[in-house]
Amino acid sequence: MCANRVYLTFDDGPDPEWTPRVLDALEKEGVKATFFAIGRQAQRFPDLMRRVHDAGHAVGNHTFSHRHPWFMSQRAARAQVRDGANAISDVLGVQPGFYRPPHGRERACMSDEAHRCGEQVVLWNVSAIDWGPLGAAEGIEKRLDAVKGGDIVLMHDGQNKHNRPDQLVQILPVFLRNLSDRGLRPALLPA
Ligand SMILES: [Zn+2]
Repeated sequence: MCANRVYLTFDDGPDPEWTPRVLDALEKEGVKATFFAIGRQAQRFPDLMRRVHDAGHAVGNHTFSHRHPWFMSQRAARAQVRDGANAISDVLGVQPGFYRPPHGRERACMSDEAHRCGEQVVLWNVSAIDWGPLGAAEGIEKRLDAVKGGDIVLMHDGQNKHNRPDQLVQILPVFLRNLSDRGLRPALLPA
């Protein structure tokens, strides 16, 4: 891992309203990121999912319907991972290389299923907290200002539940320029 690299991740899409805004901001700065997509959303918006992939971003598996990992049977939990991977690969023609559990809640059987699907489990160490009562643009910006080399940064392009992508997109261009000014280079997660 290079010291000046940062790894930007966007969860819960694709979303017809916000994913294109995120893609445009990334493209403008020539930045690649990893999108942890919800399988059901990929099925619903296949063209958008392909647009993410075709732009050179990585697409990871964020389960089929974003159920909380701890509150379902083991069989259902495994199916969430498998069905999420299949929904994405049906649209893109390639298997996702990464898996991130909803809410960051790891569960052994789900991580095992992800490994069987050829996916690495990836969490994060910096959250934009772009959701809920703390998820206003100024707060997001402040948290993202603290990003340093080697960080894996959690943000959201999907409107799932309390997410606030409308706030994130307001400061995303500034954040990306700041990274560049500070010599930090966004990169795809290492395979
Ligand atoms: Zn999520």
